[in-house]
Amino acid sequence: MLIKRDFYINGQWVAPAAPHDCIVHDPSTEEPCAVISLGGQADTDAAVAAARAALPGWSATSAPGRLELAERILAAYTARADAMAAAISLEMGAPIDMARSDQVSAGTTHITNFITAFKAFEFIRPLGPQAPQTRIAFEPVGVAGLITPWNWPMNQIALKVIPALLAGCTMVLKPSEIAPLSALLFAEVLHEAGVPPGVFNLVNGDGPGVGTQLSTHPDVAMISFTGSARAGVAITKAAADSLKKVALELGGKGANLIFADADAEAVKRGVRHCFNNSGQSCNAPTRMLVERPAYARAVEIARETALATRVASAHEPGRHIGPVVSAAQYAKIQALIETGIAEGARLVAGGPGRPDGLNRGWFVRPTVFADVTPDMTIAREEIFGPVLSIMAFDTEQEALEIANGTPYGLTNYVQTADGPRRNRLARHLRSGMVEMNGVSRGPGAFFGGVGASGRAREGGHWGIEEFLDSKAISGWFGD
Ligand code: NAD
Repeated sequence: MLIKRDFYINGQWVAPAAPHDCIVHDPSTEEPCAVISLGGQADTDAAVAAARAALPGWSATSAPGRLELAERILAAYTARADAMAAAISLEMGAPIDMARSDQVSAGTTHITNFITAFKAFEFIRPLGPQAPQTRIAFEPVGVAGLITPWNWPMNQIALKVIPALLAGCTMVLKPSEIAPLSALLFAEVLHEAGVPPGVFNLVNGDGPGVGTQLSTHPDVAMISFTGSARAGVAITKAAADSLKKVALELGGKGANLIFADADAEAVKRGVRHCFNNSGQSCNAPTRMLVERPAYARAVEIARETALATRVASAHEPGRHIGPVVSAAQYAKIQALIETGIAEGARLVAGGPGRPDGLNRGWFVRPTVFADVTPDMTIAREEIFGPVLSIMAFDTEQEALEIANGTPYGLTNYVQTADGPRRNRLARHLRSGMVEMNGVSRGPGAFFGGVGASGRAREGGHWGIEEFLDSKAISGWFGD
């Protein structure tokens, strides 16, 4: 069992002020695999004090200096890729090959894109020719509290730590207590790359503890949070008294609109995307909306794709899906599958219980429901497991109404050969992102939602701006 009780504060590994062990479990075996500590107020205060003390120095560093540091971080991160994949696979159950190819590389991609964005980033910009003496300046927000979930740990941590550093902020990271091992390794990467003491600090803890202590701390200027809507609301309330900036990336209930003229791979691609990471992605296309003439065939392809999806231990090589992260998550998904059946959805693949041959580990059967209606619980709630809901539609307008009929608004998807229809739908879908015909967002595009998905913008130059305050200056001298 790994012993990882210390926190990273002011450039050093330090023991918690008071012992408070927390066991990390391997989702593939349900066995304890590591022990960490949950911090308390004294640990949070020490980390915030270190970040506050480091702020004047770090915020005064030059842009080239910060850029060089980001490049050293990228090199150190890349060198540790195998260890990072092993940590992620162990803590949250991503199969080892997928952890390496997708989970770790998400971090690499974000760091690379931030470096590109930063090279072109202007901290002082002219307002325009109508106001030659006006400038808009961008300045670090201050000490940032970063709170992250367990499902794409390095993706989310890179999306916060790197832009905060580049913006000139100092920070305290509280990773998920369920998946803290990759974050601890990332702290080693930052140390090795030469991040100055106090600029980056890490305190493990839970939501009611360190999470709330950061959200209420008078010396923390901003909280950048990724996780559930429930916690997003709690953080927003907790942060109100100190008038912090709060940036939220929350859940989703993505719709995938498949028209009869969609490409032959559209349904299969949608099912696989839904099941990727065992369905534990906020941008998963969990509601598949199919135009009536293509509906029966789509249900059949979805069934075949689900039956062909192998479920196995995260420690086995291969392109299977692994377990879900925890006993609580397993129980929640099982209950929602039962609810889907009880409310009258047609089960076409998977269902309750573990896949055949897997008696231990939090493994869920890849599940497909057809004839789902928008009022059913499985069409409304984020399941966060490998469960797809398929519905039929007759008109573009109806598809749009179903897609937009959720408080969430993270990513929606459109599959059709009709270009003008694609563009029309892209403009009318209520979400922060729309991905069409299997084309991923380009490098440097932001990730973020609207409504109950939160309104943060992470990645690329938008991600750097999240950690900056803007200042309008008039009477500027010279160019
Ligand atoms: P969670 O909200 O339970 O926990 C996320 C983090 O917040 C953890 O570090 C947790 O300790 C902390 N936390 C919990 N309650 C808190 C509180 N009251 N105050 C401060 N911190 C608190 O979510 P989770 O179960 O870890 O992650 C799954 C959720 O995250 C899903 O809803 C998913 O859709 C969402 N998510 C969103 C995005 C996105 O970018 N939009 C990305 C990944 C995951």
